[in-house]
Amino acid sequence: MKEVKTLRDLYHNANYCQNCGKHLELKQDREGKLRAICPDCAFVLYKNPIPAAAILALNDAGEILLVKRLFEPRAGMWALPSGYIEIDMSPEENAIAEMKEETGLDGEVDHCIAWYYGYSPIYLRTLSIGFRMNITGGRLQAGDDAEQAEFFPLDQLPPIAFDAHKHFIKLETGVDAP
Ligand SMILES: [Zn+2]
Repeated sequence: MKEVKTLRDLYHNANYCQNCGKHLELKQDREGKLRAICPDCAFVLYKNPIPAAAILALNDAGEILLVKRLFEPRAGMWALPSGYIEIDMSPEENAIAEMKEETGLDGEVDHCIAWYYGYSPIYLRTLSIGFRMNITGGRLQAGDDAEQAEFFPLDQLPPIAFDAHKHFIKLETGVDAP
């Protein structure tokens, strides 16, 4: 994983208070941890790994559902259907919604595969949760931020965009994705 040299690097884009708009100050909190704190209203901007949900689903032939990404990061590469977790949805609800939006398929969560803590070119750190899902209906059709949605035989996988997704594929199917 790409190294972050100093704590200050993690706060490079923490500039303004999202409560009152004043300039945030980088200083130590009561525990001695570096935080971006508003000098006016005392709001603290915590920087956390951004949570994401990824979906691993197989069809009856044992082929895996992948989407070709339309947007950065890693536009043009194949990945599991996935998305950042919205504030008003549970991780499971998010997985079901992402699957529908990106692939047109309805699904239900079978189980949580694992979580993966990794590097993000945009947010520096993400915490991805992998869900094994069963396909319950719908019609395969790319949508939302997916250019294509297709099933791939596990021995013919294209290069996969994210380490987190490779990790989930390996754990769930035993296959080392390129
Ligand atoms: Zn403030």
